[in-house]
Amino acid sequence: MLGPPGAGKGTHASRLARHYHVPKISTGDILRESAAAGTQLGLEARARIDQGHLVSDEVAIAIVRERLSRQDVALGFILDGFPRTVGQAAALDEMMEGRSPLTVLHIVVPVEVLVGRLHARRVCGVCGTNADPTKPDVGVCASCGGALVTRADDDEQVVRNRLQIYEDRTAPLVNYYQDRPTFFTIDGNVSPDTVAGAMKDALASAMAVAEGGTR
Ligand code: AMP
Repeated sequence: MLGPPGAGKGTHASRLARHYHVPKISTGDILRESAAAGTQLGLEARARIDQGHLVSDEVAIAIVRERLSRQDVALGFILDGFPRTVGQAAALDEMMEGRSPLTVLHIVVPVEVLVGRLHARRVCGVCGTNADPTKPDVGVCASCGGALVTRADDDEQVVRNRLQIYEDRTAPLVNYYQDRPTFFTIDGNVSPDTVAGAMKDALASAMAVAEGGTR
């Protein structure tokens, strides 16, 4: 999933993971869990996350390398929030050697819509699921009943910082990937069901490419 903060990467990564019965790997979730658990990695990452800065490539790559070494990714996986830099993308290409081609879903949403979404976003403080913005905010998570909170990095100034970092560090990945037959641009400014349908169509095309043996 490639796209700016607020594009819907987390929501659609969860939906696709459920649909295809494969794990969702979110570097943001893993970093937040480490911070909550008080591990050394998590505590170092927390300050950067709360201010909207990226953690180092070294840390992000190590998290994904370890996660992709586990058995449950044998049939596939959905990456949410990784890669975020060209260095991470190059490392991921190495990790993908011997596997089916990576499918890149580039979600496009106008900036003013992103700012509005992030400003209004509420997430579960226990399981991290985003609250459905179309439903009334009853203060608790629909999945696990945990209390809904606002992420520290959804503060308006931090959001602008994150969007700028996205432009500077992550948007160059569009150039990095766009000539591949398994790169797809998805309009993220339509209903969630329409976005999900477009993603499934893109994945079906990508699987046809993989079966044809093209990278
Ligand atoms: P997310 O939940 O994907 O919005 O990620 C939240 C925060 O975690 C980001 O703003 C970064 O501080 C950090 N983070 C998540 N994934 C990465 C990554 N691939 N590279 C660097 N920092 C990351």
